[in-house]
Amino acid sequence: MAILVLAEHVDGRLDETTHKAVMAARFLGRDIHVLVMACETHSETLSQQAASIEGVTRVWSAAAPHLETQLTEDMAAQAQAILERGGYRYALMSSSYKGKRVMPYLAALRNTDLAPDITKIENEDTFVRPVYAGSLQVVERLKSAVKLLSVRASAFPPAGLQAQAAPIETLAPLPPTLAARRLEHRGKSTLRPKLSRARIVIGCGLGVEKKEMPNIEKLADKLGAAIGVTRAVVDEGMATSDYLLGQTGKIIAPELYIAVGISGAVQHLAGVKDSKVIVAVNKDPNAPIFQIADYGVVGDVGEVIPALIELL
Ligand SMILES: Cc1cc2nc3c(=O)[nH]c(=O)nc-3n(C[C@H](O)[C@H](O)[C@H](O)COP(=O)(O)OP(=O)(O)OC[C@H]3O[C@@H](n4cnc5c(N)ncnc54)[C@H](O)[C@@H]3O)c2cc1C
Repeated sequence: MAILVLAEHVDGRLDETTHKAVMAARFLGRDIHVLVMACETHSETLSQQAASIEGVTRVWSAAAPHLETQLTEDMAAQAQAILERGGYRYALMSSSYKGKRVMPYLAALRNTDLAPDITKIENEDTFVRPVYAGSLQVVERLKSAVKLLSVRASAFPPAGLQAQAAPIETLAPLPPTLAARRLEHRGKSTLRPKLSRARIVIGCGLGVEKKEMPNIEKLADKLGAAIGVTRAVVDEGMATSDYLLGQTGKIIAPELYIAVGISGAVQHLAGVKDSKVIVAVNKDPNAPIFQIADYGVVGDVGEVIPALIELL
């Protein structure tokens, strides 16, 4: 029985999380297939990259313009189409921001068991995952015939490269889902993306009013930084969850994280605490963010950020 790994990519390059998911798959079996879903421009290169990951025995390559955005609904539907063919015992993906959405969606489509965000594989059906921001470990036993897993990338080393590349098979892409068609209609967001790769990230919390955003963007431009937000900002409808940092969003480890108007809730810190240097700007000297920050500025966003821009 084979294992299906869903590949992730950014800017035409396979993301390292795919190598880590393959490494996790190697604990479960030897017949590892990688599903690459991308636009026609990047599909061939990405499939070749996937084929050369150590342990991969086959690559399924689906190419279509709408697959470039790696939308949850499209990825899950395409994976479901392969699983429907039979012969698979597991499907897995990293528990990245995408994996956290795609795998539950796939589990719902298939009505099958999912162990999310696992950090350890005990045996063929038993998996360990942290809960409550890492303060407890849960051991889960999955009973379904096809088991779905999302794996925490930091818990598995990346698989290396193999000399003999695996065969690549082209797959007919499914038509875009309704969600993909809506996204196309809506156009792209203006906030800068690639949070997971940025060396510097500015995190905006509820303390950043809408009128301060042009200054935050100016600061981000000066520093070459990406911009992320807290759950409270997403809930207020000021940004989409693509930019959410934390337990239920992206987990990042940039060289510098600047937390602006963020209180420092444990769920937010779960996503940013591995940053090398943390700078906090908050008008409340007792804000919990100062307990984790390496440098802190007690002051109003409206004054501190323009002063910082001026200094730079
Ligand atoms: C199950 C669960 C999962 C969650 N997952 C996440 C997650 O993944 N990510 C996440 O971020 N949150 C998450 N949360 C929410 C989290 O608990 C907090 O509510 C949220 O992080 C708070 O966001 P905030 O810091 O922007 O807002 P607040 O807590 O309201 O803090 C705003 C801060 O801005 C400061 N401030 C206000 N005005 C100014 C000003 N003019 N100048 C300077 N400072 C100012 C205030 O002093 C305050 O400290 C989750 C919650 C739950 C229950």
